[in-house]
Amino acid sequence: MRTRAAVLHEQAGPMRTTELTLDDPREDEVLVRIAATGVCASDAHTRSGRIPSPLPAVLGHEGAGVVVAVGAKVSHVAPGDHVALSWLPPCGRCRYCLSGRPVLCVASAPALLAGTLLDGTVRLHDGDRDVHHYSFLSTFAEYSVVPAPSAVPIPEEVPFAVAALAGCAVLTGYGAVVNRARVAPGHTVLVYGAGGVGLSAVMAARLSGAEQIVVCEPRPDKREGARTLGATHTVAPDDDVGGFLRSLTGGFGADVTIDAVGSEGLLEQAFDATAPGGTIVCVGVPAPSASVRVPAARFVREEKYLTGSLYGSGRPTIDIPNLLGLYAAGRLPIDRLISRRYTLDRLDEAFDDLEAGRLRRGVVIMDASG
Ligand SMILES: [Zn+2]
Ligand SMILES: [Zn+2]
Repeated sequence: MRTRAAVLHEQAGPMRTTELTLDDPREDEVLVRIAATGVCASDAHTRSGRIPSPLPAVLGHEGAGVVVAVGAKVSHVAPGDHVALSWLPPCGRCRYCLSGRPVLCVASAPALLAGTLLDGTVRLHDGDRDVHHYSFLSTFAEYSVVPAPSAVPIPEEVPFAVAALAGCAVLTGYGAVVNRARVAPGHTVLVYGAGGVGLSAVMAARLSGAEQIVVCEPRPDKREGARTLGATHTVAPDDDVGGFLRSLTGGFGADVTIDAVGSEGLLEQAFDATAPGGTIVCVGVPAPSASVRVPAARFVREEKYLTGSLYGSGRPTIDIPNLLGLYAAGRLPIDRLISRRYTLDRLDEAFDDLEAGRLRRGVVIMDASG
């Protein structure tokens, strides 16, 4: 079939909307009509070249839509079902999948980096030239063929834009707080960044009973936005963040710090602002050449935990519906993360807004039902 898609041909280039050929889904794949897709920092880093990825490619990895067709071996979804998309389809057989940590799946990671589907081939073509997938999903398109485990069924009443965000930003921020850091009632939580991931961490910290939630963010309007979602205090990165946290906590610092930004040098400040025995969770992905320095003696004496968290450190297939359940119950207002909507043709504008720090989350709506 033919599909309209935004194709990135070269790093730092524009996203050109073109008609591509899309092959039928193979036996363990699903064809999805994309209804809504979020614009995530990982896409932006690939577009800018900060994180290399095979090109040409159709980016986009935060989407939701309707199943159009399924391969012969697919039984958990059928045409007409609404689905959110998970960008880490677990193999279900490797040591990490079997031990309940599917985001570390060793079978799916190589294909993800190669820009193919799980069998190492692509379904997208521009004439006789192959076009790469991105994180298995390539949601900046009207239609996409995805691995069956990436299609997570959701209730029909959930808006597609909300379901899309649950598939990346919300799961990433929420999971860092709940699954990785295990924030408990009474904790003081420091969150760096007030975009989609950082604000999801704020909402999760609030749901977990954190008493003080401090957001560190350079833009005043986004600091204000964080307050409406549960932040009790805000600071700017240029402020004495460590001193402020200690003043709030009788001299200790944050019990949990979430870095949803990933810029170099920020982690040193986060380390200083975190209490002895506290946990620092790195969520934002830095450039491949970046490294982290921590004061080694304090690292030992203060027994701090420093850990990464990928895609919420949980089980996306279970966690995404759970997040949407919390949304339906009015406890996780995912819709309030969406600050602007775009059409596919205006994708570059969405990225410009994201890179300028103007957005909480931008969402591309493919049709009026999103
Ligand atoms: Zn993402
Ligand atoms: Zn696996």
